[in-house]
Amino acid sequence: MKSVGKTDIKSLVFGELQEQLRKLGEPSYRAGQITDWLYKKRVDAIDEMINLPRPLRQRLSETFSLGKIDLIRVLGARDTTRKFLFRLTDGNLIESVLIPASLALYGMRSDRRTICVSTQVGCAYGCKFCASGLEGFSRNLTSNEIVDQLIAVERETGEKIDNVVFMGMGEPLANLENVLRAIRIINAEWGLGIGARHITVSTSGLAPQIRILAEEPLQIRLAVSLHGATDEVRNRIMPVNRRYNIETLLSACDYYKAHKKQRLTFEYILIADVNDSDEQARLLSHHAHRLSAKVNLIPYNSVAGLPWVRPSKDRQEKFLAVLQAGGIPATLRREKGHDIDAACGQLRLQTKREFCSGAL
Ligand code: SF4
Repeated sequence: MKSVGKTDIKSLVFGELQEQLRKLGEPSYRAGQITDWLYKKRVDAIDEMINLPRPLRQRLSETFSLGKIDLIRVLGARDTTRKFLFRLTDGNLIESVLIPASLALYGMRSDRRTICVSTQVGCAYGCKFCASGLEGFSRNLTSNEIVDQLIAVERETGEKIDNVVFMGMGEPLANLENVLRAIRIINAEWGLGIGARHITVSTSGLAPQIRILAEEPLQIRLAVSLHGATDEVRNRIMPVNRRYNIETLLSACDYYKAHKKQRLTFEYILIADVNDSDEQARLLSHHAHRLSAKVNLIPYNSVAGLPWVRPSKDRQEKFLAVLQAGGIPATLRREKGHDIDAACGQLRLQTKREFCSGAL
């Protein structure tokens, strides 16, 4: 929320902005004028808010910053998945991904544009199949850095984003406060106006935070990156499971389900000879049935420097068939090379390597 000692004005929710204006002796309707400049007209500087009196603009500029993330590279064409690489004010790199309108994700209509946003620089959770985990954790993103990913992508593409998935680099629930703040801004009519049902938060399995999220009034969607149906498999590839084992995680999901109308999704990356057996499929089916969850199967995309491989097409289909035989709504991503939304943060390491080697 703070940059160079000042709070970023874009990290404030409406009530906080009103409160700040009250302290400055200003009428509360100024909050609406300011959010209009920030989220509708999308100015880059407080001084551009020309229906505010000049002294107020000056006071606001002295009190708040108005940060911006710099788009430094776009990969991909309009009708494909596109990657957007951003440089933050401290020089760190993050990435967002815009997924084409033709793919249906998380129960959303297929004629929509979905952005996958990052929530942290790096990630501390160290999933063994993930590029972000390889690098370790640098820092949480601020709420304005999360919101700015949407604004910058819409500005660059001229396209309106309909859906948001918190599934880029980082573990969103490890940065819960800033993620929730960003969601409120993304969801609010005075903000970006994207409906809560079009916002999906993913987690690798932070059970206590799932319970906190369950108590949030927003009807956002939750996607749990399960990737293994037993503790043995999850322990092997997801260190978080040693802290919150499957039963602890599923109990938190029970709690979530009891509080929300939205159907849960299990993300499941299929990795050959790790988690792709019929036995795993049967147990996954059992867990999904318990929670009335749907399952997204994602064939693994290899990451340079990691040993895992994608199962054969035949194995993928057989795994899917076991779920379907159990009556579980399940999808299998069959798109060739569709690596973008495969998991939280598989992408940036490669991008960063290319960037650092001068390929970008
Ligand atoms: S998969 Fe997600 S939670 Fe796991 S290391 Fe990667 S970014 Fe972190």
